[in-house]
Amino acid sequence: MIVSILVPCYNEQEVLEETIYRLLAVAREIDLDYEIIFIDDGSTDATLSIIEHSCATNKKIKCISLSRNFGHQPAISAGINHASGDVAIIIDADLQDPPELIPDMIKMWQLENCNVVYAVRRRRDKESAFKKLTARWYYRILSNLSDVSIPKDTGDFRLIDRKVIDTFLKLPEKQKYIRGLIAWVGFIQKPIFYERKERFAGITKFSVNNMLRFARVGLVYFTKKPLRLATNLGLFCFIVSIGLVVYVLISKFYFPETTVRGWSSIIIAIIFFGGVQLLSIGLMGEYIASIFDEIKSRPEYIMDRKINFDHEKLGAKDQP
Ligand code: UDP
Ligand code: MG
Repeated sequence: MIVSILVPCYNEQEVLEETIYRLLAVAREIDLDYEIIFIDDGSTDATLSIIEHSCATNKKIKCISLSRNFGHQPAISAGINHASGDVAIIIDADLQDPPELIPDMIKMWQLENCNVVYAVRRRRDKESAFKKLTARWYYRILSNLSDVSIPKDTGDFRLIDRKVIDTFLKLPEKQKYIRGLIAWVGFIQKPIFYERKERFAGITKFSVNNMLRFARVGLVYFTKKPLRLATNLGLFCFIVSIGLVVYVLISKFYFPETTVRGWSSIIIAIIFFGGVQLLSIGLMGEYIASIFDEIKSRPEYIMDRKINFDHEKLGAKDQP
């Protein structure tokens, strides 16, 4: 039995040596065969050379280096595509997800006969108030709108077994919201609780823009309800506007002496309907943008090279 540990890394030179050290300690402890796949997501610092160095000393450490920075989710996808294990564990490189939880996850998977063990953050004291607040509200809205139940307070730190991996690999969509998709595939999924640590060193690699994009993908790919909201809002406004027309006509014919005023109601109507139309168009735009992305069928990521794999030469089939 093989355990694949997948670690996306983007400019993690400050932590990577410690991460490798702690992951290896854990890998030895679990007493199962293992591979640790580092996905270098187009780092511009010494990340790749630190990984290469470890690959040279230990054949069980593998590396996938992407041709540029594609983002956290595509990097994880690349890892899942290359995992040869019976189970794969996705873990951040910055040690916020403690590697020491991995043995417990594996034990849980073996004993409780489940397919996914997802790590739920019990406390996130060490994160900024802004991040906690936005994350809390975002996941609350997402889980209310979505038909799939996406666990709250859960990142991508999780164990997935071969059944889930193989199903995941068959999913054709290019922009993957991994925590949503894994929840979507179903099977038996169990939580394990942990305390989210502070980043060991370095700074977060998620800019506000990245966070917004990630949040948008989650919402647009996992719920159609905003589209329905636009329709419902449109319907509501239509009914209100009929009422308004009736009101205007009644005022005009029955109270002609008081209908000279009306400037404010016109302005209010313009603003109101303008807003509603813009909102509806914006919402549709989000979905059209996603359809556009999917139709382009561009690969999710492009690999530059692979180290310590059986076939290291990149062929056409390597690009997803
Ligand atoms: N990461 C990545 N590509 C990116 C951004 C981040 O592979 O474009 C990796 C990063 O190296 C880390 C993980 O994804 O291992 C989570 O990133 P980070 O810790 O910066 O996010 P945060 O924990 O602050 O949400
Ligand atoms: Mg982090």
